[in-house]
Amino acid sequence: MGDVIAIANQKGGVGKTTTAVNLSSCIAAAGRSVLLIDLDPQGNATSGLGIDKASLEYTLYDALVNDIALEDMALETPVENLALIPADKDLVGAEVELVDVERREYRLRDAIDAIRDNYEYIFIDSPPSLSLLTVNGLCASDGVLVTLQCEYFALEGLSELLQTIILVRDNLNDALMLKGVLLTMYQHTNLSRQVVDDVRAHLGTKVYKTVIPRNVRVSEAPSFGMPIIHYDIKSAGAEAYLKLAREVIARG
Ligand code: ADP
Ligand code: MG
Repeated sequence: MGDVIAIANQKGGVGKTTTAVNLSSCIAAAGRSVLLIDLDPQGNATSGLGIDKASLEYTLYDALVNDIALEDMALETPVENLALIPADKDLVGAEVELVDVERREYRLRDAIDAIRDNYEYIFIDSPPSLSLLTVNGLCASDGVLVTLQCEYFALEGLSELLQTIILVRDNLNDALMLKGVLLTMYQHTNLSRQVVDDVRAHLGTKVYKTVIPRNVRVSEAPSFGMPIIHYDIKSAGAEAYLKLAREVIARG
């Protein structure tokens, strides 16, 4: 059965989508079958893999609200072994429409159950909020991968996120665990170094050994609809995400 991992942090701009796209792509490139689910109405994971949001027949909204099977909307991506469930701004509506629905926190989980066996890894790119959509992602997952940007307020909001994970585990999904914490956008500055030290001191072995550097090639790749391993395999960003993929696979 596929391992379901939500990539989460209620802060925006901390490298969730970049990690979702590139980690999924690197694990797929290692020959594992991977599904990436775009759970953010911004649809950045969708466009980052070169999929034209205007052309979509179905999006995740239809799975959550209209009971369309994920199997019927999984798209091929430019990466072999990597499929995508796309999202667009319609997903904002799901938040409202699900409020009175039975098992509203489990809509994504129930949808994933039908296709879990088809993939070795299922990644969920969460929105920058602690909303019902994010809770759906956490209820559907075995683990959470938290991204933290190497900047001054990296740890701000983390206790709230960890509290949410504990609440979901205690009340909705007892299998949920903190899988790991990933430091992103590292720069060779004293500040970045200090953030890495602080985060490792706080979170110990939960922090991945791999640190993702700030790399302009990584930020350029989505506008070409490509993961970094297609856009510039020799870049520091590609090297880091390939290393992270090995670490995630090895941790099991
Ligand atoms: P989130 O999904 O948490 O909002 P993103 O992954 O969209 O964050 O990243 C926010 C911005 O930072 C984007 O413009 C992205 O291209 C850029 N970015 C993310 N990771 C890196 C990196 N390692 N190097 C350079 N730019 C990055
Ligand atoms: Mg994002």
